[in-house]
Amino acid sequence: MKNIYVTSGYETRKALDLLAPYLDGMNIDIKSFSDTFYQETCGARLKPVLEAVQYAHNKGIWIEITTLLISGKNDSDEEIRSIANFIAELDSSIPWHLSAFHPMYKMLDVPRTPSQTLRRAYKIGQEAGLKYLYVGNIDDEDYESTYCPQCRNKVIDRHGHVGQFVTNHLNKEGACPYCSYRIEGVWR
Ligand SMILES: [Zn+2]
Repeated sequence: MKNIYVTSGYETRKALDLLAPYLDGMNIDIKSFSDTFYQETCGARLKPVLEAVQYAHNKGIWIEITTLLISGKNDSDEEIRSIANFIAELDSSIPWHLSAFHPMYKMLDVPRTPSQTLRRAYKIGQEAGLKYLYVGNIDDEDYESTYCPQCRNKVIDRHGHVGQFVTNHLNKEGACPYCSYRIEGVWR
């Protein structure tokens, strides 16, 4: 059985030590690169999240990062670049999911994130050297598929609102069928 955590990244080191043998992957939210945003909007702090990302990655757990982009709150070029650089410095193979916000619950006064914002963040992620970028919560086939970092061919085709239609062109080992580059990830 494969076990995946979708998490805010607020696990202690001790918790990660106990979980690591049973976890195949973690999708960790980096909700902002501002400690003020974390305190005011999330009731949390930024530093423990960044430390948990580093610690889990260093323990060998497969990590993916998600950032929910909210207009006017955490979507400046500077902030997006800070998150991208943090991930790239840790490991440029870590996938980064850029999700669209839509108004609900206690934040009804902020509009839905436009697709241009997600594409802008995608480009900033590319400039930072990240190999795997994905937009989310929006149907955008070109930006939710996986491309080979070496030959740039599309190797996993995704479309539909949450990428529910998937065509995987990789071989069993997770290698690109065009140039044999091994796409980083958990394939078996
Ligand atoms: Zn390739």
